[in-house]
Amino acid sequence: MVDPTSDLGEDVDEDDAPECATCGTKIVQSPTHRVVTRVEDGRAHHRHFCSEECLADDDGA
Ligand SMILES: [Zn+2]
Repeated sequence: MVDPTSDLGEDVDEDDAPECATCGTKIVQSPTHRVVTRVEDGRAHHRHFCSEECLADDDGA
């Protein structure tokens, strides 16, 4: 049973960290981390960005 009071956000190591879809930076505990969810062919795809700049860069690609 998972303790609901645990802070899961502090348990991520670098191997599990998502990479920015634009620049490839590992995103660990980044306050500017952005996640975009898109549904394609009925499946959800999550894309991670390290900053607003990288998110904007990906738009329209
Ligand atoms: Zn980036």
